[in-house]
Amino acid sequence: MENLDSPSRIIPPLSVLILRRRLPTRDRLRRWGEDVPTACVLCSDGIENHHHLFFESEYSSSIWQTFASQIWDNPPTDLHSAAAWILQQHQPPNANAIALIKLIFQSSIYLIWKERNARNFTVVSSPTHALDRLLRDRLLSIKPRPPPAEYLLRFFLLIYRPP
Ligand SMILES: [Zn+2]
Repeated sequence: MENLDSPSRIIPPLSVLILRRRLPTRDRLRRWGEDVPTACVLCSDGIENHHHLFFESEYSSSIWQTFASQIWDNPPTDLHSAAAWILQQHQPPNANAIALIKLIFQSSIYLIWKERNARNFTVVSSPTHALDRLLRDRLLSIKPRPPPAEYLLRFFLLIYRPP
């Protein structure tokens, strides 16, 4: 029998929520009758919805583009095209690049949503290069199965040029 209390059932992975446009973004909160402003807290230059946050907003696009473009040229600028672009890479010239682009995608959306919440509820804000730290931490936490974390980290450090 399925465990109804399993965390993954209650809180689906963030990337699934985002791809299904299920996060409580300001446009959705307003549709639910909440009296919230519509402006994006990351740039104040757009309406906060899934499309804008991932990755139209300047803060978001600078995170995603900066890191993804170091793996492959011209990463798509919207979420669903980016997800499709990653899934198309099934004949990889380099398996490490596939693993890394997936990590960059997941880490980017995690960081963008975390930053959106931080700016909504606190006065703290993070620079876009915070993804650098997050990627390093996540690469170091990967279990030592092929491809080994040190290998991915080395690959990341080889291709990464700080902004
Ligand atoms: Zn914005």
